[in-house]
Amino acid sequence: MKQYDILIIGGGAAGLAAAVSARKENNNIKIGIVEKSDRVAKKIHATGNGRCNFTNMDIKSDYFYGDRAFVEKILAQFGTEEALLFFKELGIMHRVEDNRVYPLSNQASAVADCLRLYLTENNVDFITETFVSELERTPNGFKVGDIEAKKVIVATGGKAQPNLGSDGSGYKLLEQFGHTPTPVRCALVSLKTENRITKLLKGVKVFARVTLFEKEKQVASDRGEMLFTDYGVSGIPVMQISRFAKKGMILEIDMLPDLSRKEALAEIYERVYNLPEREGAELFSGLVNKKIAIPMLKYAGVEKTSAKAKSFTDENIRKCGGFLKKLQLPVLGDNGFENAQVSAGGIELSGFYPHSMESKLMPGLYAAGEILDVDAICGGYNLHWAWATGVLAGKSAAK
Ligand SMILES: Cc1cc2nc3c(=O)[nH]c(=O)nc-3n(C[C@H](O)[C@H](O)[C@H](O)COP(=O)(O)OP(=O)(O)OC[C@H]3O[C@@H](n4cnc5c(N)ncnc54)[C@H](O)[C@@H]3O)c2cc1C
Repeated sequence: MKQYDILIIGGGAAGLAAAVSARKENNNIKIGIVEKSDRVAKKIHATGNGRCNFTNMDIKSDYFYGDRAFVEKILAQFGTEEALLFFKELGIMHRVEDNRVYPLSNQASAVADCLRLYLTENNVDFITETFVSELERTPNGFKVGDIEAKKVIVATGGKAQPNLGSDGSGYKLLEQFGHTPTPVRCALVSLKTENRITKLLKGVKVFARVTLFEKEKQVASDRGEMLFTDYGVSGIPVMQISRFAKKGMILEIDMLPDLSRKEALAEIYERVYNLPEREGAELFSGLVNKKIAIPMLKYAGVEKTSAKAKSFTDENIRKCGGFLKKLQLPVLGDNGFENAQVSAGGIELSGFYPHSMESKLMPGLYAAGEILDVDAICGGYNLHWAWATGVLAGKSAAK
């Protein structure tokens, strides 16, 4: 029987951060990490498009969903400064883009490596290819298969991208000790919409405002670079509002968010007036991505893309304006946990102490990361939550 002082279940961002902080707190304890995959930190490699946006210069509870009072207590103990110092001590210099923080080398692998190497050099055991399906309470602590541990930190993540390890199997481990999960759903995910138009625009990126409506009531809105795809829409602003999306809602796209509807129409009329001999397909060049013109003209009832501007009717022009300012797509659903960056919902925070992440229901049991009922917008906040709760759990468990 292997024996550990601290056993961490899940070798992702939260679990690895927990192991580092536990080791820094106490050099004389035995620490092990059980990971179901063949290696730890798989998801970290995939973050930030391979660059790992690991924290943000502007960390506030406002950017998180869940119990914000609890989140604030965590951020007060581990904010941006603490995150930068934690990684600096592991060898990561950083760079900032629009408040988003990346490793200076611009490689997510650097973040994964610095954690993995520190732990290997500091005698933390990786027990890989070991799936934990049961966690038993014993008189001296806990038992996981043939491993005994005085304390256990559950850091198995949520349900987003099960191909990278997190399949939701960890909820059960905490539930058996009385912890309850809130319903888990996708967040930060692309959306499936009515696709007749999006298919035609597939691959086109546009700076837009995207807004979700439910029965004409605005539900969520964001702006940034979005992408049309053959199934619907993607890109950061779409992902930011995706946690609110439901089948039956309308997604409205404004491709000229800095112009009012009146200004946009005036711009189109001016082009038609000034460039009467210009073919429709070329008329909008310089206003919107060229690839948008042809589907837009079709939508506006202009049969031939070679039709000259002077042949456009008022209705054609108004419809072009509508396409650019108020393209409405019925939402059919989201792209599922397989494609989501995070899951919303999870184990309720009320069962844990915010200064230690220790369970209020089972002494010696801790939780950290996405398994908990917290998620955040894009920008480094989800990883920050994983590091912050991992560090607190590791440190307190090692005391
Ligand atoms: C493609 C992608 C890009 C992202 N980019 C960013 C970004 O740039 N910035 C940002 O802030 N966030 C980003 N995120 C979100 C962020 O990666 C997660 O919120 C974060 O990794 C959660 O950390 P975690 O340790 O709680 O869970 P995970 O990283 O999911 O780790 C959980 C670990 O536990 C293991 N495990 C699960 N169940 C068991 C079990 N029963 N037994 C043993 N082991 C188990 C898993 O294999 C996994 O290694 C991204 C996510 C994805 C998918």
